[in-house]
Amino acid sequence: MQVPAHVEYERATSVEHALSLLSRPETRVVAGGHSLIPMMKLRLAQPEVLVDINGLAELAFIALDGGQLRIGALARHADLLSSAVAGKCFPIFHDAEREVADPIVRLWGTVGGSLCQADPSEDLSAVFAAVRATAVIRGQDGERMVPVRNFHLGPYETVIRPGELLAEIRVPVLPGTGSAYEKVARRVGDWSVAAAGAVLQLTGNPETTPQVIESAGIGLTAVGAEHFVAAEAEDFLAGRAADSESFAAAAAIAAEHCHPAADQRGPEDFKRHLVAELTTRALRRAAARVSS
Ligand SMILES: Cc1cc2nc3c(=O)[nH]c(=O)nc-3n(C[C@H](O)[C@H](O)[C@H](O)COP(=O)(O)OP(=O)(O)OC[C@H]3O[C@@H](n4cnc5c(N)ncnc54)[C@H](O)[C@@H]3O)c2cc1C
Repeated sequence: MQVPAHVEYERATSVEHALSLLSRPETRVVAGGHSLIPMMKLRLAQPEVLVDINGLAELAFIALDGGQLRIGALARHADLLSSAVAGKCFPIFHDAEREVADPIVRLWGTVGGSLCQADPSEDLSAVFAAVRATAVIRGQDGERMVPVRNFHLGPYETVIRPGELLAEIRVPVLPGTGSAYEKVARRVGDWSVAAAGAVLQLTGNPETTPQVIESAGIGLTAVGAEHFVAAEAEDFLAGRAADSESFAAAAAIAAEHCHPAADQRGPEDFKRHLVAELTTRALRRAAARVSS
C-alpha cells in the first residue's frame, strides 16, 4: 500500500481547539508526519481524522524557566540542535540530535512526535529517560505530569489517552552535572544499532579527583531496555568514585540487563558489546563535561 486510506483533515488553531477536535473518535495528532504518514500508507495506522498541530506556535518553544529546561512538543529536532540554552544545560541533546536522521527529517520532525511514536529505536526517548524528564500531557480535564520513565508502555504505546496531547517536556537543571550520547548506526542518518546516553551529577572537590557520583542517569536506545533505562547500572554508580573502573563495571551491568533482539542490524552479542562500549564512552564524556 502506498496511498493512505481516506482521512478527514482538521488544522488546530489553538491547544484548546486541538483538544476539542481530539474528543471525536478515531482522531490522531499529526506533527511532523514523518512516522505517522508512512504508517498510514502501510495501513499500520488508520485514523479517521487527522488533527494537524503545526500551527500551534505556543507548543514550539525551548526555554530555561525557574531551574527547568522546558521544551514544547512542537519544537523541531533542528530547534533542539540549534538551541544554545539546551546545549549548555544538556550537551546530550546536541550529541543525540546530530545523529537523528538527516537535516530534512530534523527540520520537520518534532520532539513530541519522537516521544509519542514510542519507536524502540527513537534516540530522544533514551535521552529524556536519562535526564529524568517529565512529560506534560494536556486533556480537556486539565494537565497531568508523567515522568518520561513511565511514559512508554511498550513499543509504539504510551500513556497518552484518546483526546489527550503531549504539550511539553520539562527537565530539571541541576548543578554539577554533565551529559553525553554515543550512537552506532550502519550509515550516516540511519537509526541506531545501539546507543547510550549518560547524565552524571558529581560532588566533592574537583581538585581531588575522582569526584563522587551523586546520581547517574543512563538511557539505552534500540536494545530492549525497560523504559529505555539501565536502572541496575544507575544504582551501581550511586555513591561510587567517578572513575574508569566504575564506568566500565556499570557499562557491563547495562549490557547484561538489556534485551537486544537479533535483526538486520546485528546479532544480540554484538549489540551487548556496543552497549558496554557506548555506555563507558558516554559516562566518561559526561564526567569530563561536568560544570558547576
Ligand atoms: C528517514 C527517517 C529517518 C529517521 N531516523 C531517525 C533516527 O535516526 N533517530 C530517531 O530518533 N528518529 C529518527 N526518525 C524519526 C523522526 O526523527 C521523527 O522524530 C519521528 O518521525 C516522529 O516525529 P514527527 O513529528 O514526525 O511525528 P508524527 O509522525 O507526526 O507523529 C508520530 C506519532 O506521535 C503522535 N504525536 C505527535 N505529536 C504528538 C503530540 N504532541 N501529542 C500526542 N501525540 C502526538 C502522532 O499521533 C503519531 O502517533 C527518522 C524518520 C525518518 C522519516
